Amino acid sequence: MRLRNVKGAREQLAASPYVIQNPSEHKGKWNEVFQNNHPIHIEIGMGKGKFITTLAMENPDINFIGIEKFSSVLIRGVEKMEELKLPNLFFIRMDAEAILEIFEKEEVKKIYLNFSDPWPKERHAKRRLTSKEFFARYDQILAKDGVVQFKTDNRALFDFSLESIPLANWDAKEVTFDLHHSEFLEGNVMTEYEEKFVAEGKPICRLVAAR
Ligand code: SAM
Repeated sequence: MRLRNVKGAREQLAASPYVIQNPSEHKGKWNEVFQNNHPIHIEIGMGKGKFITTLAMENPDINFIGIEKFSSVLIRGVEKMEELKLPNLFFIRMDAEAILEIFEKEEVKKIYLNFSDPWPKERHAKRRLTSKEFFARYDQILAKDGVVQFKTDNRALFDFSLESIPLANWDAKEVTFDLHHSEFLEGNVMTEYEEKFVAEGKPICRLVAAR
């Protein structure tokens, strides 16, 4: 998702109290940012932020951090926060490739990946957020009982993930190829992309990866 040239987006993000400007300074000390010891859940590739904003509203005892690469998209999440002013949600603008610089070992309890970019070319496979390279990073930052929840409409990316997760020594659990007609639908929070695909009648794949 990339909205072209949202004028002033970078400047607005730089001035926003909801965007953490130097996230590596908080490595191992995110509880100080939130001023409590609640568990930390993160969404990588949060887009415009509907999903993580809804989760933060529904779960005040969980701390949420939304990570997004593009200012032009993240700005929409920031605008939502300017209305909601939730104490348990912050955003970081960064490429998740550098996530080990941000979180200490086992600092995160849950990672959400929603409708991640498919990177269909084989030579870009390492960039897929469910590649074994990314799972090696998640292995570092996730608590021992931490999990990664992944949703996508893209069957090729989902099949790739079902292969890459065991290669990284993780197990794919609660696997469904049609979330909206499955036992796992209860409590599901829809993302922007999910709403669009569901309206088009596309099945949504979903899994939870655990060690
Ligand atoms: N999760 C949202 C949803 O389901 O509506 C957005 C989905 S959109 C297809 C994928 C988003 O992930 C884009 O906004 C993109 O910029 C972001 N993204 C992709 N790779 C990323 C990375 N390595 N680090 C941070 N954000 C990333």
